[in-house]
Amino acid sequence: IPAELKPDLSIRLCGPRGFCAGVDRAIQIVVLALKAYGAPVYVRHEIVHNRYVVEGLEAKGAVFVEELNEIPAEHQKQPVVFSAHGVPKSVPEDAQSRNLFYLDATCPLVSKVHKQAMRHQRLGRHVVLIGHAGHPEVIGTMGQLPEGTVSLIETIEDADVYVPADPDNLGFVTQTTLSVDDTAGVIARLTERFPNLTAPAADSICYATTNRQEAVKQAAPGCDLFIVVGAPNSSNSKRLVEVALRAGAKKSLLVQRAAELDWAEIGDIRTLGLSAGASAPEVIVDEIIAAFKARFNATIDLAITTEETENFLVNRELREVPLTHE
Ligand code: SF4
Repeated sequence: IPAELKPDLSIRLCGPRGFCAGVDRAIQIVVLALKAYGAPVYVRHEIVHNRYVVEGLEAKGAVFVEELNEIPAEHQKQPVVFSAHGVPKSVPEDAQSRNLFYLDATCPLVSKVHKQAMRHQRLGRHVVLIGHAGHPEVIGTMGQLPEGTVSLIETIEDADVYVPADPDNLGFVTQTTLSVDDTAGVIARLTERFPNLTAPAADSICYATTNRQEAVKQAAPGCDLFIVVGAPNSSNSKRLVEVALRAGAKKSLLVQRAAELDWAEIGDIRTLGLSAGASAPEVIVDEIIAAFKARFNATIDLAITTEETENFLVNRELREVPLTHE
């Protein structure tokens, strides 16, 4: 389209967006394991919820499996990496019993939630986990404690009907990637019903989730469309779509690649909000911006709410091992 015929578009680009320190670390662990031990490196579950990242690592020699019994006997000496979402205790136990060499890429902020759940239990409290059923992080956190000792609450409605055995001895933790506002509502309702409910020592929702939601909240009011780059199984990305709508974007879409954009559906917009979930690489944000620039006379307005400096070190064994397969 010739430049003079393109309609004007203001792109409000949120910051912080995209990769968080936990995702960055998990990807580094797989890359370093490939350099140190050579291919194949097995990864249990998608290392982070993003196809582009997974396919990039597959091209380097990573092999993704859902369960440890999928690792062939002849590759037992190759490392297996556990994903950033964390795993139930039974998984490293199973790896040990199979004599597998494992590297745990669980985000340190997820491990912190595990420790707080265990602490509640040690102090005699029944654990209430606020989160989404079936998400690997929820499966991992529940799997830190014996079966039946954690109750999962997903919504305010669940909080309304929850009947604990001992209402005065409850402690809660949450999934790290929930909606800050919805979770506050669930906690308020639980506290109304169970005034002795004990909070964890620190917030379970992580800095990256909080910061990305805050930036979207600021940028979304008045946007004709708000695009969140992320995968349909990425919890924190889906929450950003909801936050954008609630904060006043007329429409919000979760998009994995620019090729998915339906230009007829997008239509004649003047203001576009843009952010990316914690597992979405910046190259895809660039790809989306380029696609809009091809059709619009686009200007970028940065909507930055804070700067992030978090950086998590990889596992010690990977800091010390020579990278002989580079
Ligand atoms: Fe860790 Fe938060 Fe990133 Fe999850 S979203 S990997 S908890 S920093």
